[in-house]
Amino acid sequence: MIVGVPKEIKNHEYRVGLTPAAVQEFTNNGHAVLVQVNAGTSIGFTDDLYLAAGATMIETPEEIFATADMIVKVKEPQPNECKMLREGQTLYTYLHLAPDPVQTQLLVESGATCIAYETVTDNRGTLPLLAPMSEVAGRMSIQAGAHYLEKANGGSGTLLGGVPGVAPGKVLIIGGGVVGLNAAKMAMGLGADVTILDRSLNRLRELDDIFEGRLTTVFSTSDAIDYYSSRADLVVGAVLVPGAAAPKLLTREHIKNMKPGSVLVDVAIDQGGCFETSKATTHQDPVYIIDDVVHYCVANMPGGVARTSTMALNNATLPFGLALANKGPKQAMLDDPHLLNGLNVHKGIVTYKAVVDALGDSL
Ligand code: NAD
Repeated sequence: MIVGVPKEIKNHEYRVGLTPAAVQEFTNNGHAVLVQVNAGTSIGFTDDLYLAAGATMIETPEEIFATADMIVKVKEPQPNECKMLREGQTLYTYLHLAPDPVQTQLLVESGATCIAYETVTDNRGTLPLLAPMSEVAGRMSIQAGAHYLEKANGGSGTLLGGVPGVAPGKVLIIGGGVVGLNAAKMAMGLGADVTILDRSLNRLRELDDIFEGRLTTVFSTSDAIDYYSSRADLVVGAVLVPGAAAPKLLTREHIKNMKPGSVLVDVAIDQGGCFETSKATTHQDPVYIIDDVVHYCVANMPGGVARTSTMALNNATLPFGLALANKGPKQAMLDDPHLLNGLNVHKGIVTYKAVVDALGDSL
């Protein structure tokens, strides 16, 4: 199979569909890989590294889309990329079609077979190609929070770890899933005083076991949010209600009762955010202040650490990508129902129910 890796063109997107190490895996399996010149240069994956892995470097995306049997990307295809896709070609990338009728229509018109990373499943009922980005965002949330707690960055001037003789900062994490667990690991590593709220008692039990009682687990109620947020230096929003917009758990009233200079990091902003005052921000302009509380609501946090994110994403996407190339997309999906769950559009038909439910009339 000929596998094509165009350079990402979405604004400030530095990740790349395949690392040189992943390219090597494809070429070792007898596939040809076409990589666009400079696709990974800005994150240290130079053209020389791709050449050494057996790739052919191609100047233009047009040539890659015209030649490749499978296009491997990170972000959803932009309109001009959608128009280069064709029937018989496979697209393997994040798509997020439910809120995006324009992209969905363009993919339908292309006739291509479009597999969305975010809907591929695994035996545990989780989403293995989303988890690495949640791990990245969870770990980054504490890094970002610690930065904005510094006085010069708008915060209260609190060091999360404290020092001998001075109590550590208090971190409240709302939602103890993948993001919450990884945020807790980082916060505990810094020596902060950490509390996690979740609605799932089983999850709270797991977290208590993982951290051997060194953090506080509390069942998530409005009362608990009120109590712990008013004492927190940093609050991380990490809830997910599958298939629904994030619930607004931290209200404007809660935020008014928070300490001046405390920091909110709303990781759930990509689902609308779980704080009432959240609105999406960018890496270029990540924060704003309401009621003396710093809000960090970057919708694509992993893009900020594009090198780590690319490698983490490739670790998860590679086995499925190799199956698609080795067996051909049809056989690979027939053999693996979890990969089949990734199929969102095929030969002009939307094949993923949640997308049909969300967009039905607009298609
Ligand atoms: P997850 O499913 O692993 O965990 C979500 C947790 O929220 C679950 O443990 C669930 O029990 C808990 N929860 C649900 N309702 C709750 C409530 N009322 N109170 C407390 N906890 C509640 O999800 P995840 O992978 O950790 O993702 C969390 C959020 O982060 C999602 O919205 C995801 O889209 C988002 N995310 C954002 C970025 C970004 O760049 N901003 C990156 C990755 C993930």
